[in-house]
Amino acid sequence: MNRKFWFYIEPFVYISMVNDNVLFYNTLNKKHILFNKDNNFFNFIQLIELKKNYVLEIDLSSNIRSFIKKIKKYYMGDIIPVEESIKKPFQFKPIYKISYVDYHDHESNTYVKNSNNTIANIREMTFYINTSCSQRCHFCEKANKQFNTCYSNNHNKELDYTVLKESLIKISETNVKQININGGNVTKYSKFKELLTFLGKIRKNIGICINYLNIQEFKDYISYFKQEGKVLRIYIHPPFDLHLLHYIKNLLVVYNIELIFIIQNEKELSELNKIIDEYSFEDYTIQPLYDNNLSFFKKNVFNTKKDILERKIEMNEIFINNEINGFYYGKLIVMNDGHVYTNPNTPTIGNIISDSMQIVMNNALEEKGSWKKIRKNEEPCNQCVYNVICPPIGNYEHVIGRNNLCKINNTINNKFVND
Ligand code: SF4
Ligand code: SF4
Repeated sequence: MNRKFWFYIEPFVYISMVNDNVLFYNTLNKKHILFNKDNNFFNFIQLIELKKNYVLEIDLSSNIRSFIKKIKKYYMGDIIPVEESIKKPFQFKPIYKISYVDYHDHESNTYVKNSNNTIANIREMTFYINTSCSQRCHFCEKANKQFNTCYSNNHNKELDYTVLKESLIKISETNVKQININGGNVTKYSKFKELLTFLGKIRKNIGICINYLNIQEFKDYISYFKQEGKVLRIYIHPPFDLHLLHYIKNLLVVYNIELIFIIQNEKELSELNKIIDEYSFEDYTIQPLYDNNLSFFKKNVFNTKKDILERKIEMNEIFINNEINGFYYGKLIVMNDGHVYTNPNTPTIGNIISDSMQIVMNNALEEKGSWKKIRKNEEPCNQCVYNVICPPIGNYEHVIGRNNLCKINNTINNKFVND
């Protein structure tokens, strides 16, 4: 008589099935196994995935030994002789556990809104207090569509200070983690000094953004950035002004400053590397700017399979990717005319001057282009077995006009991909 075994999959293993492909992904050690339907075990794998508790009674005489060996090798599961545990072992298949106010009800397959408290969804809010600036950066109109930076349209309209203060008071009472103040040149805002004093009383992380070409206009305000949680974000780009870089280098010792370098091509990248060495900059971000430089993006920004599989991703993040866009969710941008956006590339969802916060939030939760834009619903990622472990869709995808900023062929046809 053949011996019977319980075969189980560990709860920290995520199984993704898309079309003819199945991915087993161990969220603890980042190991993975990919199968496709040509594989002898495919039906068996489908069965274990469908099981509510990741446990299956098996007969080892079947041809699944090599599959089990593989699963054991990557600490994804194991077998127990049935006689050692007559009762089926209790195992948790991972379940959704996302705590946000607008949530997905699995039984009715609908999103449920807590209409009394939608404002609690906000995690990060960016205010463009003005858009006036005397600089003439060639990338000005493009950069803020790709990342959170300054933007000028030479209209001198400012965000009304009373409206701004009221919004800040409202959101400071919520769970919001981050408030960003952007311009133009923010120092040109008529109430900038009053605003800084007011922000000093708000116990939230505050980031104020400025282009390094405007840094010297900040000297009267720089002491603000000695306070805990108050950070000055300085965007730096070629052609590099060495005098200004030297000035900034000295500020780094005393104040909370983040450096973000904007680059567009290999030449600028190698120039930047020299600058970084020369000035011994240690803590900085390099932010590529898209301007039809697709080959530069393909080489330096597009993800490889290795990038996707080796990045640190927890089980909860996988579940978030299944339901919401973790990059956009909870983020709002308010422009100087009061218009609110969930994303700089999608239409406005309201206006904080004329609409209540409740209406703006309801629109944000209805809108499909940002907070709810997930890979498994978008082409071609909906055909890709990596779609829930891949980083969420962001602004580069919008600007470049394709969702798959990766080097992966979607007709994944491998059998055992890794060993
Ligand atoms: S400093 Fe900023 S706002 Fe001014 S032109 Fe340059 S990118 Fe635009
Ligand atoms: S096709 Fe989409 S989901 Fe798949 S790896 Fe590429 S970007 Fe990620």
